[in-house]
Amino acid sequence: MSLPGREVKDERLERASEGAALARGLARSYGDASLPAAAGDKLASTVLANRLLSFNPESGVLRAESGLSLAELNRIFMPQGWFTPVSPGTQFVTLGGMVASDVHGKNHHRDGCFGAHVLGLRVRLAEGDIVECSPSLRADLFHGCVGGMGLLGHLLEVEFQLRPIPSSCILTETRRVANISDFLDALRVAAQRWPYTMGWIDCLSRGPQLGRGVLMAGDWAPRAGAPRPPRVRRGALRFPIDLPHGALNRHTARAFNAAFFHAHPRGVSASAGPAEPFFYPLDRVLDWNRAYGKRGFTQYQCVLPRDAGPEAVLEFMHHLASTASSSPLCVIKDCGPQGRGVLSFPMEGTSIAVDMRITDDTQRVVDRLNAFVISTGGRIYLTKDQFTRRAHFAAMEPRLEHFQALRRRWDPQRRLRSALSLRLLED
Ligand SMILES: Cc1cc2nc3c(=O)[nH]c(=O)nc-3n(C[C@H](O)[C@H](O)[C@H](O)COP(=O)(O)OP(=O)(O)OC[C@H]3O[C@@H](n4cnc5c(N)ncnc54)[C@H](O)[C@@H]3O)c2cc1C
Repeated sequence: MSLPGREVKDERLERASEGAALARGLARSYGDASLPAAAGDKLASTVLANRLLSFNPESGVLRAESGLSLAELNRIFMPQGWFTPVSPGTQFVTLGGMVASDVHGKNHHRDGCFGAHVLGLRVRLAEGDIVECSPSLRADLFHGCVGGMGLLGHLLEVEFQLRPIPSSCILTETRRVANISDFLDALRVAAQRWPYTMGWIDCLSRGPQLGRGVLMAGDWAPRAGAPRPPRVRRGALRFPIDLPHGALNRHTARAFNAAFFHAHPRGVSASAGPAEPFFYPLDRVLDWNRAYGKRGFTQYQCVLPRDAGPEAVLEFMHHLASTASSSPLCVIKDCGPQGRGVLSFPMEGTSIAVDMRITDDTQRVVDRLNAFVISTGGRIYLTKDQFTRRAHFAAMEPRLEHFQALRRRWDPQRRLRSALSLRLLED
């Protein structure tokens, strides 16, 4: 895939980032966060700057260049008994992208976002200087960079705390859930026992089955007795073609959803297996996005605050069932308290993410969902967004003025920008 902008790849990120308007990792953000604001803008690609710089096997503290991918990190460190403290649902992301989006994982209710485990950053500022920052050194810069979508500086190096794991196997418990109210209860109960939880929702179901789905919970298997993980074949499957635009429609999605739901037995089923399919189910099919056809898809992800009550989640599901076009992918997660990143996404509450095939109606659907999310005090996840309007973003983001003040301080000439900042932040 070729992306617009003057993309510069260099294994010396100091060189590539000089004069760049934006940094880009593996471009796994769904929307326009890693796209340039203007065709002539220089983009620093980080992917060749992927060296491990230091690792302390006693403490688990790792420092690496920001282009290191999570897949590479897992390949090297999982067999040695270490894992990232927080993992998104794909390992084809870079450390820089994980910090800039302050990614969350299935363990947000316990461990917060990735940024909570970052100890230090080396940053090239907009004016060219290279500085270190951490929770105690230039803390305002640090907290602006965490979740700051690359708009406060180019991250050159990331130092963070790895987590010891007893084995590279995961014990999982899976259960079918009858509707959205049961889902919220089941997530709450599972969160007390399991470090990793998430649910798949059939977002086309209605009536008493509205929000039915499958809850998955997991934990690391103890070393003693952990089953030997079968070899995981990476990228063995590739989606071969762009499906015709209408191939994924309400009927095919409904059939898929019903089949997936009923493929899981009633009650609880337990299993043990390698970690990768549990954390990264979509990574097993390369180019899976082609299933949505040439016009592609967007993902709408929001968090509804706990204070808004279960009624808010129920009403959101009603909106989704009545408006969202044909989606086989809808994920629900429990979020813990808001983190330190100034624009970090999660807040205490329920996050729902849904893939939507792009149609002429998508803008209207996103507008409607955003209006509802704003009414609950919730917000959307910037790294997934492509359609939110500036006025809606301002209405849902009380921290925006703080973030803009940080930009005025650390980028007074407004040199750093992206298509996303152009759309949402008045650049
Ligand atoms: C299948 C799939 C599942 C996902 N699941 C989750 C999930 O569970 N939780 C979650 O939180 N996210 C999830 N994501 C989103 C993904 O984790 C984020 O979009 C992440 O930022 C992508 O990393 P990247 O290296 O591809 O960054 P890019 O997409 O290249 O960039 C994303 C943003 O980070 C900035 N950036 C990247 N590198 C740097 C750098 N070195 N310095 C400064 N800024 C930088 C870019 O400017 C841009 O604003 C998922 C994405 C996919 C495709």
